Amino acid sequence: MASAPRPLVAGNWKMNGLGASAAELEKMIAEAGRFNGRADLTICPPATLLARFAGIAKGSPVAIGAQDCHAEASGAFTGDISAEMIADAGGSAVIVGHSERRSYHQESDANVKAKANAAARAKLVAILCVGETREEREADATLPRIERQLNGSLPDHFDARSLVIAYEPVWAIGTGLTPGPKDVAEVHGFIRDYLVARGKGTGEAVRILYGGSVKPSNAKELLSIANVNGALVGGASLKSDDFLGIAAACL
Ligand code: PEP
Repeated sequence: MASAPRPLVAGNWKMNGLGASAAELEKMIAEAGRFNGRADLTICPPATLLARFAGIAKGSPVAIGAQDCHAEASGAFTGDISAEMIADAGGSAVIVGHSERRSYHQESDANVKAKANAAARAKLVAILCVGETREEREADATLPRIERQLNGSLPDHFDARSLVIAYEPVWAIGTGLTPGPKDVAEVHGFIRDYLVARGKGTGEAVRILYGGSVKPSNAKELLSIANVNGALVGGASLKSDDFLGIAAACL
């Protein structure tokens, strides 16, 4: 059996952060050396901070990513940014299909797939989010929902360098709730099998992150579950101590 992929801990700052928040990034960078070669770190600030953060993080072990991109490379799409613009600003990753985009911006699986293809076109790592609602979990419809999202939103071609999957149960995001370890293991195992079946030899190495109310106090338990190759962290990624505390659980 192939060895487990190196963990990735990615922070999604959502619509939080002003110029002064660069101090948190600088603290993360100052500590990041101890994860070198053992865990990868990525911070996804709002688009307004992308270029500034990429400049600060240049040459450090912390990568910078964006939270969304448009599917087209350029054009009359007021307010949007393209994958190429993210790369040009110094970003190396982009989150696509976050449940907040899927629900507040009515993004379909087809939209998410187009964005994941755009990420590949611009040579960004796509961090592609999937996850069930509370109603779907209660109706025992979690795995069919995940399968539909994977069928509809995976990019046309992928490998372990271009794609990361984040399993984020919608009901666990920002609520303090997390699924039990058996439930996390079941979904991550399901996603792994799916990737292996579709990944033309690369599915074993694609990282599958868990996301939803991860914090330093529960990170060890969540990150030691089979096929959990890191975390996508929202609220707890805004503070360097919490983010680094979560990353330390990978070691
Ligand atoms: C997220 O929105 O990607 C997320 C995981 O949020 P939180 O950690 O705050 O639940």
